[in-house]
Amino acid sequence: MQNEVIAYKDGVTLLDTQSVSPEKASSYEKVLFDNSDDALEVIRHSTAHLMAQAIKELYPEAKFFVGPVIEDGFYYDFRVDNKISDSDLKAIEKKMQEFAKAKLPIEKASYTKDEILKKFADDDLKQEVLLRIPDGEVTTYKQGDFEDLCRGPHVPNTRYLRFFSLTRVAGAYLGGDETKEMLTRIYGTAFADKASLAEYKKMIEEAKKRDHRKLGNELKLFTFDEEVGAGLPIWLPAGARLRSKLEALLFKAHRVRGYEPVRGPEILKSDAWKISGHYDNYGDNMYFTTIDDSEYGLKPMNCLGHIKVYQNDVRSYRDLPLKFFEYGVVHRHEKSGVMHGLFRVREFTQDDAHIFCTPEQIKENVLEILDFVKHIMKTFGFEYELEISTKPQKAIGDERYWEVATQGLKDALDENNITYGIDEGGGAFYGPKIDIKITDALKRKWQCGTIQVDFNLPERFNLHYIDATNEQARPVMIHRAILGSFERFIGILTEHCAGEFPFFLAPTQVVIVPIGENHLSYAKELGMQMIENGVDFEISSKNESLNKRIRNAEKMRVPMILVIGDEEVEKKSVALRDRRERRQYNLTKDEFMSIIKEKLSEVHF
Ligand SMILES: [Zn+2]
Ligand SMILES: [Zn+2]
Repeated sequence: MQNEVIAYKDGVTLLDTQSVSPEKASSYEKVLFDNSDDALEVIRHSTAHLMAQAIKELYPEAKFFVGPVIEDGFYYDFRVDNKISDSDLKAIEKKMQEFAKAKLPIEKASYTKDEILKKFADDDLKQEVLLRIPDGEVTTYKQGDFEDLCRGPHVPNTRYLRFFSLTRVAGAYLGGDETKEMLTRIYGTAFADKASLAEYKKMIEEAKKRDHRKLGNELKLFTFDEEVGAGLPIWLPAGARLRSKLEALLFKAHRVRGYEPVRGPEILKSDAWKISGHYDNYGDNMYFTTIDDSEYGLKPMNCLGHIKVYQNDVRSYRDLPLKFFEYGVVHRHEKSGVMHGLFRVREFTQDDAHIFCTPEQIKENVLEILDFVKHIMKTFGFEYELEISTKPQKAIGDERYWEVATQGLKDALDENNITYGIDEGGGAFYGPKIDIKITDALKRKWQCGTIQVDFNLPERFNLHYIDATNEQARPVMIHRAILGSFERFIGILTEHCAGEFPFFLAPTQVVIVPIGENHLSYAKELGMQMIENGVDFEISSKNESLNKRIRNAEKMRVPMILVIGDEEVEKKSVALRDRRERRQYNLTKDEFMSIIKEKLSEVHF
């Protein structure tokens, strides 16, 4: 079936083979049955219907809402009487295989809106879907006796759909509206050939092994506690060591780039959040309390503190750009269902900065930030891409500001031949932004840092500087975070490197294993010298066999292990096992210290 036409493309939209007449077909681009993005869109979309057909067969009372294609697969939301769990997926898959083998033709039909409303009169979920589509012609697709509302396009028959897998069951509010009922959602994926599906399944297995929640527990990095509350990470010593190393490196990287560290309060009067617009536009995500009859809000962003720093002095154009940074702790109300390890939490620390500059300086500052991003991502081996997000529905400020700011971002990238995607309507409520999306070792994409250009908050807080003609002028504010948050970034990094953190970040960089009691004091001496050199160590002196102690250090993914016996004590040397290089060698103490010093000095963002 490879190389068979499953759809056409008119440049932008995918067209159904059944909608294109043979005469017109030659004028469209062909979409062949393979693993291209366009083909996968059609295949996965068709597989979502195949899944719905199988569910309907197994659960005749099932009613279906929508079943879109997503990043690497598809889902379908539906209602059934029974509770469906992961263990039911096999049976649904089996039924799907049956329908696939039957090579059922997938046939398109057209109706008027009135006809279709009547046709699905007793299906309240389809009525919900119909509310969301414009009047006019409505199409359905039928395979066997299963007919579903859809725009298409689809593969010509079910025989094309053989390489699929259902991945998990979840709950989803109807239309994402939490005041509505909870539907069942099944996620799955599909490919054009067996090998691609096998590769995908392997990746999912690998992802499970690398799950940062699992590794975070094994490596004792962080924990959560019901008594403390959901989404509130507790950093254990090893995790806190790792994190503080990242903080220290990043602190220095900010300083050499001219950023000044500042710090604002955790909790600010609601009056301030009203001026900024957070109260109206972001209030649902904030936590409030009352102190001495005044309402206060816990900060969900650090902007206000930095604005107050700016306002603390008279600013001249000669001072600009001013760059303030803070490891800002923020609190945001995430719904209880969406929290996920360190990826989605209610308290996190942003590597946040605000650059106050003249409008003319936007471009150079955006480029400078992108250069900063490049250094950091290269150090960790992350590939990344950029996306510009434009004005969202809920937004403050003049249309004019939005245009200038959005154009400023585009110009900065265009003039430097930096490629980017566009996310229409995905901006922050106060300005457009560039999102930084990184790709990890398993080729998964993660949204991390962001750069936002903002004309609105400077206006709302009446910020100014004295320009070259001695007049008052309005500065622009650039909000930016590169890691995004330490929590999320460390979660991603943990999965990216499968817990094998680079030497400069590893919570314990060296484990010293003294063979006997009489080697302990030399082990301590070595350890103290390591601390002096900025390297964290542990001495493994438990009453366990040498092999067991070495294995423990390996299990904790410690990069270097030093074994100390009579010979090492006598010669002031070390027997080094470098796990990453899979090598063992004997070094003098001084040689070893210069190796670790060199390893650390190689790293700077
Ligand atoms: Zn469809
Ligand atoms: Zn900000």
